[in-house]
Formats: sequence, structure tokens, C-alpha cells
Amino acid sequence: VDAPVKILLLENVNTAAVDLLKAQGYAVEEIKKALGEEELINKLKEGNFQAVGIRSKTKITAKVIKECASLLVIGCFCIGTNQVDLLAAAKAGIAVFNSPFSNSRSVAELVISEVIALSRQLCDRAREMREGIWNKVSKGCWEIRGKTLGIVGYGHIGAQLSVLAESMGMSVLYYDVIPIMPLGSAKQVETLEELLGAVDFLTLHVPELPETTNMISKAQIDLMKDGAYLLNNARGKVIDIPALVDALKSGKLAGAAVDVFPHEPASNGPNFGDALNEWSSALRSCPNLILTPHIGGSTEEAQSMIGSEVGSALISYLNLGSSQGAVNLPSLTLRPILEDSGARLCFIHQNVPGTLKIVNGVLEEFQVSKQSSDSMGDVAYLLADIVGVTEKDITQIYEAISSTSNNIATRMLF
Ligand code: NAD
Repeated sequence: VDAPVKILLLENVNTAAVDLLKAQGYAVEEIKKALGEEELINKLKEGNFQAVGIRSKTKITAKVIKECASLLVIGCFCIGTNQVDLLAAAKAGIAVFNSPFSNSRSVAELVISEVIALSRQLCDRAREMREGIWNKVSKGCWEIRGKTLGIVGYGHIGAQLSVLAESMGMSVLYYDVIPIMPLGSAKQVETLEELLGAVDFLTLHVPELPETTNMISKAQIDLMKDGAYLLNNARGKVIDIPALVDALKSGKLAGAAVDVFPHEPASNGPNFGDALNEWSSALRSCPNLILTPHIGGSTEEAQSMIGSEVGSALISYLNLGSSQGAVNLPSLTLRPILEDSGARLCFIHQNVPGTLKIVNGVLEEFQVSKQSSDSMGDVAYLLADIVGVTEKDITQIYEAISSTSNNIATRMLF
């Protein structure tokens, strides 16, 4: 089709994305706010949009997906994808992309600032000054040079943090469930227990999983050095909060930083106490505890990285069929189509036996230069590059594949 791809961007998606998408020649329409279900359906149907970009407030429900037949792809310009019915999207052949790692550096920098602030009791001193109290002390205040940072989870954030901490003169040890090549002079240890007793600062960078829930509780804190510090910028349930409160009040831990909570308020404003659960007032009265409202990844740079990451993913899906990084479809990619007379078949289908046989039957009279397929649950995806084809051949392949009973969505790119 010669008409430009039509994409609707809601909720003030970052300009980095808008510029990228416009540079592709796509027809981009922007709406600054989120839309409700009916408004969204009307807008998408009326405009025949192939792509929609949202942030966290627009809900893409099964009803939206069912009613908006032209939709091929959804870009979540944020970290989470809970606002989209991912299964309904997959079953309708709509790929969903997000940006899980664009704010790693922002989190790592915040952790460095917290390590220094904790070891200098900075937040308590700053609060006292605001209360009119001059309290010049050096007891219990330390440089971070020469201290050991323990990182639990050496992924995107943990690894960046490792490099930053070493450049500040810290030694780095880390624990991860998989063996990961250390950066710089960091060392991986075999067990969490080994890490706990060896470090001055323990910082958590694991995902929220059943096995990471209450991963740091009383038993683990007891194994830490007396006067160590604990930082949680991962997910709220990774630390057992009552155990943390006890350890800060008893002086077992010299300080802590908490950016994430088991229950977080849905919007900004005062009186958030209830949302943080019954521990809110206990937490607020702990010494040398830095509490922040889940701002680890909240920077201008991260927003712009999200814009370019999700924008680029939408472009390579629409232009090349690449589902790399999709959260609800198998991740497939083939090199760009190089041959002049080539075409790419992008076939999303039900994951049932016999489908590949049908595809190969349709393609057997053509020369297939590359092919790749994979499945995720009930849905499978196949990419195949066919060379030496005419426009008539392309139409013939499209009609044969899209009319199979297992077809969910078929596209031919050329
Ligand atoms: P990642 O997936 O890149 O890395 C996570 C690492 O944890 C992986 O190396 C994995 O092998 C390891 N891991 C998993 N289970 C483990 C276990 N039981 N014990 C030890 N290691 C384990 O993730 P990331 O991007 O580095 O993010 C880490 C965490 O930070 C996530 O929970 C994420 O949600 C959170 N996060 C918070 C903010 C914020 O604003 N505070 C921002 C971004 C990410």
C-alpha cells in the first residue's frame, strides 16, 4: 500500500519519538491527554490508524482491540504494560512494545547519590537545618572511598552501578542467579549469604518475582555487618519493611534508602500514608532513612530514551516485521530485505500443528532466502524472505497465506 502509516500518539509522548516517526514519512497525530475506552475506539476507527502510542494512563482493553481492526502495533512509551490486554492483543495479531531498560543509568546515578547521602547522614542534617537545628557531627559519617558495595542482581542497572561505584573508589561484589561477566574489577560471589556479610552497602536490583519477595528479611539483615546500609530501588516487595524498620531503630543498620513500596499511591499529592500501608508512620520516624516516591528512573533523559527506543521498535516492526523486544509476541528479526525483487512475508498465526507445512506448500515454488519462526503460547510468528518475485506473485502469496484457517494477521513487505 502506498498510503503512509497512520499513527496516533496519546499522553504527550516524548518529542524524540514524534521526530523519529515523522522522519519515516508516517502520518502522526498527537493528542496530549489519555482517552477513555469509547473515545479511543471512535478515534482509532475513524482514523483507521495502524499504530497507537500510549503511556501509562490509556487502557487498551480487549474491547478496543476487538473493535479496531486496522491496528497492527501498540507502543507503550513507558516501562509497564499492565494498561494493555496483552493476550487479547497477541490473539488479534497486534504486537506490543515497551521500554524496560531506558532508565537504567538514571537509577544507577540515584543509587550513587544515596550511598554518599547515607554515609554522611545528609538527609537528617538537611532536615535538622530546616527545623532550625545546627548539628555539626562527624561521628558515624564516612567517605565511600574504599568501602564495599554489594549488588544483588547484576542486570542493566546493577552492571551500570558497578562501573560508577568503582570510579568513586569503592570495591564491588555482586550476587546474581546466573553467572555474569564482571565489569571492571567487580567480583561475583556464589551465594546471597556470602554477599551479605562482606559488604558495607547492600543495594537491590532484582525483578519482582515469587523468589525475590521478602528476599531481604530479618534473617538476611542479621547476616549483614553491624552499621551497614541497605538500599532498595528495585521493587517494593523485595524487602520486608517491618524487618527494615526494626534494624534501623535498633542501630543494626546505620541507614537505608527506599524508593519503592509494596503499595504505591496512584497519583501525586499529600496524605499518601495509607497507600504505603500500615508501615508508613514507622518508616517516617526511622533515623537516616531516605524515602523517595519511586523516582529512580524519573529523569528527562530517560523520557527521551523511552521515546527513541519505543519509536525505533515501532518503525522496525512496521517496516521490517521485526518483533524484537515485543512483550506479547515471539521475538523475531531478519536482516533488512536487500534484494530488489524480494518480499518479506510476516505471518502471525495460531500455534497449531501443520501450519508450517501449509506455509511451505504455498512457498515451495518460490526461492526463500531466509526464514525464521517462533511461538509464544497460543500464538506463533513467521518471517520469510522470498526473492525473484513479481507483484502478481506477492499478491498470490498474500492471498494464499491470509486465507488459511490458522491466520491471525498477514503482511507482505517489499
Ligand atoms: P534486569 O532484568 O536487567 O536485571 C535483573 C537481574 O536480576 C538479572 O541479571 C537477573 O538474573 C537477576 N535476578 C533475577 N532473580 C534473581 C534472584 N532471585 N537473585 C539474584 N539475582 C536475580 O533488570 P534491571 O533493568 O536492572 O532492573 C532491576 C529492577 O529495578 C527491576 O525490579 C526493575 O523493576 C527495577 N527498576 C526500578 C526503577 C525505579 O524507578 N526505582 C526504575 C527501573 C527499574
